[in-house]
Amino acid sequence: MTLIVHKYGGTSVADLERIRNVAQRIKHRIDAGERLCVVVSAMAGQTNRLVEWVTSLDPARYDRAEYDQVVASGEQVTIGLLAIALQHLGVPARSFLGWQAGIRTDGAHASARITEIDPTPLRRCIEAGIVPVVAGFQGIGPDGRMTTLGRGGSDTSAVALAAALEADRCDIFTDVDGVYTSDPRIVSKARKLDRITYEEMLEMASVGAKVLQTRSVALAMRHKVRLQVLSSFEDKPGTLVVDEDEIVETQIVSGIAYTRDEAKVSVVRVMDRPGVAAALFGPLAEANINVDMIVQSVSRDGVHTNMTFTVSRADLPRARAVLESVREQVGFERIDADDEIVKISVIGVGMRSHAGIAHRMFRTLADRGINIQAISTSEIKVSVLIAEEYTELALRALHSAYGLDRS
Ligand code: ADP
Ligand code: ASP
Ligand code: MG
Repeated sequence: MTLIVHKYGGTSVADLERIRNVAQRIKHRIDAGERLCVVVSAMAGQTNRLVEWVTSLDPARYDRAEYDQVVASGEQVTIGLLAIALQHLGVPARSFLGWQAGIRTDGAHASARITEIDPTPLRRCIEAGIVPVVAGFQGIGPDGRMTTLGRGGSDTSAVALAAALEADRCDIFTDVDGVYTSDPRIVSKARKLDRITYEEMLEMASVGAKVLQTRSVALAMRHKVRLQVLSSFEDKPGTLVVDEDEIVETQIVSGIAYTRDEAKVSVVRVMDRPGVAAALFGPLAEANINVDMIVQSVSRDGVHTNMTFTVSRADLPRARAVLESVREQVGFERIDADDEIVKISVIGVGMRSHAGIAHRMFRTLADRGINIQAISTSEIKVSVLIAEEYTELALRALHSAYGLDRS
């Protein structure tokens, strides 16, 4: 008998009607002879609300273990409700919190990694003909405290469970019917992909295509979990995430992603001397703040320079506090922050063998009068930082420029 892990995201369980709809779908699959393990997110908007409560009390220095205790609670509600909705349809079901499902993590609160899963409780449940409904996004740390896996982390819970249970596939049900060449909510001419490579999906996710959490793709790639993204509202095939050799024809550019989750920080008039970058970025790293794009401007007077970089918007208040705490020691004039920016990235494995991809991006943006504030590249990706107001314009223009538009 096949075993499939189903994951339903926030919009798919946003209210009781939708929870009933999910329960119906699960019943159909069970009636068709499949064995299932189900993972769910909190109701749409709920995790945001919980995060806001915590950060309103203390924006910069909140206790991350308590943050996890609060924000993990959204999933506790949906697992219970879905189990009840299933039972109401005559499908035996039981809810599991992360720790009850044997999901152990490291102690990095708010962005914990799964270290181990003991599949015994879920296996027993499935073997007894009961559908386990597991809370996504959460686990238990080494000290026995609740942890969460970072925003969008239910995808990772689902893939990790699929690997631990040696499931035949992991189906991620969401509010779009697959992975598109760009966010279909912004680029109406975006095309649905039948297949995408793990590598491209990983890169797309890491630069903002939040249809899958980055870690879930990395995990699927490592454990060879067959992954599918599909709609929880319509019955049709979705997008399969596969190895490169399963793709018949590769595109030079496969997708364009964006993220509004970053903020630009400029440390103005810092001394231009060896060790300054280390003095600024060391304390940020110690505070677990990830720095992404970095630009150091040319020193005009030979003494001072500006160091510009991006951090996640959520980390901005903490980044400011950390930098202020080293101001005396490092010596700089001020910190400027701008969170009205967007990072746009073009992704494609074909970049390895084709030149001119970045140039086309810069030309397309220049032709629209859009100023590029920072650039970063990797082997299969080019990213630029621009003002947030140009998000839609830039995405649509680039999508056309690379010939991705649906005809
Ligand atoms: P869920 O709550 O089900 O986890 P998410 O909101 O996390 O759903 O992810 C689905 C959303 O991802 C879609 O509504 C869509 O707007 C967005 N998205 C961004 N980029 C893409 C893309 N390339 N293909 C499909 N969806 C995308
Ligand atoms: N509820 C969590 C979030 O909103 C996890 C998830 O949806 O995957 O980030
Ligand atoms: Mg999601």
